[in-house]
Amino acid sequence: MEITDYNAFAGDCIDELKALQDQFKETFDIAQANWFYNQATGLLTFSTDDTELNFKYFQVGSFSSKSETWMWSWHNENTLENVKEPTSQIRDFGESFNFAKLTEGHFASDEFEAWEFTAISVKLIKGIGVYRPVNDEGLMIFLVITEFVDNETAKNIKNKYIECGDHEYRRVAFVCQHLNFDTKVGFEESFETIEGMELSDEDDFQAWCDECETIRVAEDGWSRNAMKFAKYRVVCEGCYFKMKTLNLGSD
Ligand SMILES: [Zn+2]
Ligand SMILES: [Zn+2]
Repeated sequence: MEITDYNAFAGDCIDELKALQDQFKETFDIAQANWFYNQATGLLTFSTDDTELNFKYFQVGSFSSKSETWMWSWHNENTLENVKEPTSQIRDFGESFNFAKLTEGHFASDEFEAWEFTAISVKLIKGIGVYRPVNDEGLMIFLVITEFVDNETAKNIKNKYIECGDHEYRRVAFVCQHLNFDTKVGFEESFETIEGMELSDEDDFQAWCDECETIRVAEDGWSRNAMKFAKYRVVCEGCYFKMKTLNLGSD
């Protein structure tokens, strides 16, 4: 399609979305399912008693019927980077065509426009469908589904996250049994880490204390003895960096 006029472009995108969404509903039966989405994993899950369907998604933005305003995800501080990152492409696109509605972060709008923004996002980022849950505060959340994820892969992704009483839902990290929140015991790592950094699939946050390090060196690596002494346990990423700060922080 040739892009000159915003309204014509948005209208075309809406038409395309309708066809796409029909196709999505034919392929995946989600009508009776419970839904759950998680910003940390970037997974949208539909489940019934005996089936589960997982998808990768990103969050286009949200529409508040109370204040009658739209907010793009890239403008929303409460939305995690990994589910809003694609929306910066929409803004860039808006800038190159001078479409103000795609470049302003938060403005008066209506639900129909929210669907237009979502349809444009589907078109530009090649979504396979959309989903629009309403959150506890009555906010409409517009999600673009980008990819089906098989259950095995979804399980592997979810296994990398843990629910923590202090830090909500965060990535898992591993610490030796001696690391704690009160006493400095040293902090050794397999690689230099920063909170929130990207990790490859093979890498995990892993830290151990000075005593463990002494034994690891004496045993020439993570021998069975060294592992037994360390007795690794799982904590969340937030707890991991709390321990790191305690041991290595300047204060
Ligand atoms: Zn230790
Ligand atoms: Zn924690």
